[in-house]
Amino acid sequence: MKLVFATNNPHKLTEAQEILGNKIEVVSLSQLGCHEDIPETADTLSGNSLQKAEYIFERYHVNCFADDTGLEVAALNGAPGVYSARYAGINGQHPTPAMNRQKLLQEMTGVTDRSARFRTVVTLILDGEVQQVEGVVNGSIATEEHGTQGFGYDSLFIPEGYDKTFAELGEDIKNNISHRARAMQALARLLQL
Ligand code: IMP
Repeated sequence: MKLVFATNNPHKLTEAQEILGNKIEVVSLSQLGCHEDIPETADTLSGNSLQKAEYIFERYHVNCFADDTGLEVAALNGAPGVYSARYAGINGQHPTPAMNRQKLLQEMTGVTDRSARFRTVVTLILDGEVQQVEGVVNGSIATEEHGTQGFGYDSLFIPEGYDKTFAELGEDIKNNISHRARAMQALARLLQL
């Protein structure tokens, strides 16, 4: 079976293909011939993930799935959440990941409850039927950046059960326990793989 993944991120594609195995062929947007920027204008992870999957299904009538991820910090009432990529943006401009991390550290100055989680929501549209699953990794926000691997907020996020950030732990450990890996595993279960 072929499933279009509404992304052009090569890392996400490889990860999805590895977890979904050889019964599913994961196809990227560019392989589908879609080179547009898919709108992500909802105010929840679930809404954005649905919006992306519906965009593909309505135009191409193919089985597909889409993901959306956010870092949810308890002391900040779930922020940056769905706005994780744009957290430090001013006037709609796209901030760099370093600016986002800086803003997060500033907002967390003096805050003792540093608990947080990464959450990924995946929307699957299979033969027109919509289903959603999610993957979560709980953890906490470090008081300063540690490590050089990974991307985004990795150098600030310490997953539960470890004393190092994702950026220090590296890809092998992260890919086993991450929000995205868990969401892909939930997708595999949904597809009964
Ligand atoms: P996306 O929905 O996968 O594009 O993720 C939205 C934003 O969440 C990214 O731009 C990053 O800032 C952050 N993010 C998502 N996944 C990760 C991760 O695995 N590590 C660190 N930051 C992440």
